[in-house]
Amino acid sequence: MFEDLKGRRAVITGSTSGIGLAIAESLASQGVHVVMNGFGPADEIETSRARMAEAHGVTVTYHGADMSKPDEIKDLIETSARTLGGIDILINNAGIQKVAPVDQFKDDDWNAIIAINLSSSFHTIKHTIPHMKKQGFGRIVNIASAHGLTASPFKSAYVAAKHGIVGLTKVVGLELAEEHITCNAVCPGYVLTPLVEMQVADTAKARGITEEEVKKDVMLERQPTKEFVTYEQLNGMVTYLCSNAGGGCTATAYPVDGGWTAP
Ligand code: NAD
Repeated sequence: MFEDLKGRRAVITGSTSGIGLAIAESLASQGVHVVMNGFGPADEIETSRARMAEAHGVTVTYHGADMSKPDEIKDLIETSARTLGGIDILINNAGIQKVAPVDQFKDDDWNAIIAINLSSSFHTIKHTIPHMKKQGFGRIVNIASAHGLTASPFKSAYVAAKHGIVGLTKVVGLELAEEHITCNAVCPGYVLTPLVEMQVADTAKARGITEEEVKKDVMLERQPTKEFVTYEQLNGMVTYLCSNAGGGCTATAYPVDGGWTAP
């Protein structure tokens, strides 16, 4: 437990599923008030929202901004700041994936991945910084990927976006270094989330192999632990970076990838 997290206010993009939902649960369990965002069936989102609020005695609200739409992103940040009285923590997590050889990559898929996985973070950060500056405190954590540090075939847009988010992280960290606002990226290896389940199917098709072969020979082949990274392992890193103890860390990308990106 990081006692100093109690009462902090967090916006977490893409927190209706997978890694974002796990981070929301983890921060709420530390006493952080949370704004959820993302897509999904309304009743499932409401169930998650109510469960977190009740279990941890914190305020949990939901905003349905589409992270490919700058106007909706601005409304997410301004509404969150108004509702919670400020924003201490911003977790940029929303992301999508499409897998295809670069010469067959659809323009619409490229544009959507760049918008959601990269440009959305520019917009959330831009609108959140004034609130953090006013408070003299802020923690920004961008969920990048091992693919922000290294590449794989068939993932041109995703790898470009994730390398971009690592670059953005460094610039924002440097610009805010004297403001007690940190900006870091966390670079997960493979985590078995709904997004990865879909990728297994797409990669199997692109490479002409079975889904089991994709998991064993493609994904975990590059992850030396031979195990998927767990939500708990990611939550530990994110929670630390959001705490006072993490205040010395900024403008850096932290792999949580079972050794994948070791040089
Ligand atoms: P997921 O599909 O389970 O969750 C993605 C979340 O983003 C969902 O809440 C979804 O509703 C939301 N989202 C998608 N498009 C959106 C949009 N236009 N507007 C608002 N919300 C939108 O995926 P995940 O695996 O939990 O991935 C979360 C993040 O972690 C992504 O940025 C992904 O690139 C990154 N990541 C995942 C892995 C992995 O192995 N799962 C590895 C490295 C990085």
